[in-house]
Amino acid sequence: MYSLCPKKNMDNFINRDVLLLSISMGFKIILLGPPGSGKGTQAEKLNDDLGLIRLSTGDMLREAVRDKTELGKMAKEYMDKGALVPDNVVIGLMKERITSLKEGFVLDGFPRTVQQADALCEFVDVDHVINLDVDDEELVSRLTARRSCPDCNVVYHLLYKPPMKDDTCDKCGATLYHRSDDTETTVRARLKVYRDSTFPLIEYYEKKGILVNVDGKGNIQEIYEAIEDSL
Ligand code: AMP
Repeated sequence: MYSLCPKKNMDNFINRDVLLLSISMGFKIILLGPPGSGKGTQAEKLNDDLGLIRLSTGDMLREAVRDKTELGKMAKEYMDKGALVPDNVVIGLMKERITSLKEGFVLDGFPRTVQQADALCEFVDVDHVINLDVDDEELVSRLTARRSCPDCNVVYHLLYKPPMKDDTCDKCGATLYHRSDDTETTVRARLKVYRDSTFPLIEYYEKKGILVNVDGKGNIQEIYEAIEDSL
């Protein structure tokens, strides 16, 4: 266990920099957790702070939907219902992206089934799996108040992490939108899919000895520090 909290003297700053560099060079992390647990927000912070590349299957699929590609047209039917896109499709998508990467990365939204996790370990060795734990009612309230950037994929929350200017992304200035699958009915369907298909991955990675549970409720920065401390 390493602690990455800011240290007081210069030696410790240097040590922290060396540590951050070694982490960002090759760390491979999975962020697990139900929709709305903060995977996107924390993956973004891991990218800003440690330089880990954020790979989000949801963002890739939404981009395909916006571009109206064949993949996008097919994926949209599943996404609109809150269902999972078939395993072979997302596995193919991620395999191509991951095997072309030399840097460390953080996976946000993949794997989501045991089949995806089995496929993933065929082409990469993951170092850490962080499971963000948040209860259902909190998730519904978070997702219905979530706003997303269509261009740089930063995620906001109208109460906990509002943009500085109404409906405008702080990072790139694009107009924020409310995802069509962030309505209460679709959110509840997504939570059921999570329980049935993704929840078993907690035990799957516990058995491999690489899972850490982090309380996903509360302050975004405190949750991030708990993640860093667990690395
Ligand atoms: P997310 O942005 O991670 O909440 O994902 C939004 C939607 O994209 C999900 O509800 C699924 O329909 C689809 N999706 C994202 N990742 C996966 C995955 N690993 N497997 C299957 N479907 C996925």
